[in-house]
Amino acid sequence: MSMRGVHTTMMLYNSHDKGRLILSSNIFPGVYLFQGNTLVAPGDIPDSMIHEGILNMPASIASSITMLDIPSINGPRNEATGVIQSADLPPDLPLPAGWRGIPVRQALTLMTNDVTVDGTGPVGRLFRAYHILQWRRESVFCGSCGSRNEDTLGSLARRCPVCGRQEFPRISPAIIVIIINDEDKALLAHNKQFAPGLYSLIAGFTEAGENLEATVAREVREEVGLAVQDICYVASQPWPFPNSLMLGFTARYAAGTIRVDGKEIEDARWFSRDMLPALPGNGSVSRYLINRWLEGKLGPRAAQ
Ligand SMILES: [Zn+2]
Repeated sequence: MSMRGVHTTMMLYNSHDKGRLILSSNIFPGVYLFQGNTLVAPGDIPDSMIHEGILNMPASIASSITMLDIPSINGPRNEATGVIQSADLPPDLPLPAGWRGIPVRQALTLMTNDVTVDGTGPVGRLFRAYHILQWRRESVFCGSCGSRNEDTLGSLARRCPVCGRQEFPRISPAIIVIIINDEDKALLAHNKQFAPGLYSLIAGFTEAGENLEATVAREVREEVGLAVQDICYVASQPWPFPNSLMLGFTARYAAGTIRVDGKEIEDARWFSRDMLPALPGNGSVSRYLINRWLEGKLGPRAAQ
């Protein structure tokens, strides 16, 4: 059983322990089962442990899935320590009694109490598994000639056996920016898709032919009608909803008055630290940037 590439493998099933799949986290850095956009896990695993590699795996699930071995980013690629195991459960498979489905976005907040931008730890592995499984659902056929793609040994790529076209997991850069004005207030906006009362940062996808700084300036101009300056990169985060890499920036207000686009953004305002709306959950780069500002580490008063 090669551990180098992505391939389907037989379920590692411990028959001595009646339905309990034991994958020591010393061997496997992560085991993730998904069903659509939810992470599924036994209900008795605490929220903070849902990424742990020990799962009670009833035979009803074990017999109906095929695990995928995904090389982990950090692990040595020729050893079992470098493999993330993951599977996409059939959408109509009923979960066993006591199991639960957790939306992957929500799992992020449950897994990490710290506001950290984590691209390599448990969150990074969860996101990697989720990103690649989603991509595999959408890359069954060749985009050029329509033939059925094949997996390639030793690589994540899929290859068309007819025309030879190769396809790799797609990663779409997107920016998110905290804009701070001369009064040290931050611009937060309410997107139509947000829960009522929730405000976050301006964000958007990079267009073809555009660099990241231009994306920041354009998104701010389009969504809230402002000009910004001193655009500066801070941190990034994988964001597989479905396939983004979120690049976090800070920028200073330069000119203009707030004028929301009315399409994506319904409201945007300058907030001071003592008059805050509901904010995004922990674990996201948006909250990370907002917290950095709250701590006085971004903006005109920051000792940078
Ligand atoms: Zn083809």
